[in-house]
Amino acid sequence: MSAERALIVGASHAGAQLAASLRQEGWVGEILLIGDESVLPYQRPPLSKAYLAGKTTLHDLAIRSSEFYAKQDIQIRDATVDSIDRSAHHLSLADGDTLTYSKLALCTGARPRRLPVPGADLTGVYYLRTAADVELIRAAAVPGSRTVIIGGGYIGLETAASLRTLGLEVTVLEATERVLERVTAPDVSAFFTRIHVDEGVTIRTGALVEALSGDGQVREVVLAGGELIPADLVIVGVGVEPNTELAAAAGLAVDDGVVIDDQARTSDPDIVAAGDCASHEMARYGRRIRLESVPSAGEQAKVAAATMCGKSKEIAALPWFWSDQYDLKLQIAGLNTGYDEVLLSGDPAQDRDFTCYYLRGGELIAADCVNRPRDFVNSKRAIAQRLPVDRAELLRAGSG
Ligand code: FAD
Repeated sequence: MSAERALIVGASHAGAQLAASLRQEGWVGEILLIGDESVLPYQRPPLSKAYLAGKTTLHDLAIRSSEFYAKQDIQIRDATVDSIDRSAHHLSLADGDTLTYSKLALCTGARPRRLPVPGADLTGVYYLRTAADVELIRAAAVPGSRTVIIGGGYIGLETAASLRTLGLEVTVLEATERVLERVTAPDVSAFFTRIHVDEGVTIRTGALVEALSGDGQVREVVLAGGELIPADLVIVGVGVEPNTELAAAAGLAVDDGVVIDDQARTSDPDIVAAGDCASHEMARYGRRIRLESVPSAGEQAKVAAATMCGKSKEIAALPWFWSDQYDLKLQIAGLNTGYDEVLLSGDPAQDRDFTCYYLRGGELIAADCVNRPRDFVNSKRAIAQRLPVDRAELLRAGSG
């Protein structure tokens, strides 16, 4: 076994967890974690929260210390992987080097979807995925700057909250009729709109961006219909797309993500995948899903590591997610896709804490819990174990 070498492509949440789990599972050969961000793997969620707001440093965000990797004999290499030769079991790096593997893990994550409109390449237009992106935004984020955020999803709203605390003027443009439209019930969207408006953010819904204009530097956002919104900087948060090109070029099955089974195996028995780049058939939801969340990346990575060591673990945990905005902690248990009933505990039109339960055919499938940690823990357990729903108990006021 000592001549075995595990290569991990992508050094972030999934890759870092996978490397650590490989040792725990008993991998005695070489482990090489290859990433192209030139920094130790760091926690990505704080980028739009505490890191953007200047409340923490990149050093504090490290997932593990350099001592940890050294102690576990995990090597880290700053490089971009260009291609995989599956028959030769080797990777080609952009710097010309070639590395052979016994087992390979793809943890290549996702990248921001680009805004497909004229002017999107002007100076002053930013995306937010990496620490380097945040450093550029922070340099441009002078108090009083007029900031336009395109996209009213979690990242757009978290960014709005952080930039407000830095004293910027913030407008959020959302193309659909409400913020968080894709992921929450109307009451939850209305709640976050109220909170942001109270904090001085302008939220425009039904606002379709047609172009960005300026003289090299962005000056205005042009809406369908011709309205011009002045902007000193623009931040685009319109979703991500998985980094699957490596896998696809190597002939692995890809379907909105590298296709993996319950043991994180791709269509090649020597290659696993985990995290934002991977799509997995979830029996509970009856379809293939590509989750974009730290807990899922971690769980899939643990399972993938076990698989690489010839053991058998399965991806089974309930998906969950969180978002921090101002003093609010939203915790989401489960996925609400296909819900046909909503129950509200608390009043999102007035309170700063409430839980929105989502049911399908009388079964609890998801819960959005705002400043209600106890509801979150209870919901997670009830959804995972498919416990019978006691409506009166769910609605009991102040259960957080
Ligand atoms: P990534 O974090 O995308 O990492 C993939 C890595 O692989 C990157 O470093 C990439 O550069 C590298 N890479 C790709 N291709 C190559 C290659 N060919 N060669 C070398 N390296 C390569 N999730 C939550 O659960 N809660 C939150 O509150 C939350 N907030 C978020 C806020 C922001 C601003 C962002 C951007 C994301 C947030 N997420 C949140 C999502 C979460 O960060 C992702 O789900 C998580 O980062 C996925 O980890 P990953 O390792 O799969 O992929």
